[in-house]
Amino acid sequence: MSINVISCTKCGQRFEKLQKNDEAETMECPNCGSTEVIKEISSFSTCGAAPAASPYSGG
Ligand SMILES: [Zn+2]
Repeated sequence: MSINVISCTKCGQRFEKLQKNDEAETMECPNCGSTEVIKEISSFSTCGAAPAASPYSGG
């Protein structure tokens, strides 16, 4: 399960919505109730920064 970030094109309200199973569901803006919304990004776990290259070379 992932969380999608939805952006309303009417009022610009941004809200998150849980991604359900592959089931077509009409998304409505909780602010103005418009269905003119677009999916911005999918929130995924970004914990853990990439291992920075150590300046020290292995001996
Ligand atoms: Zn809206």
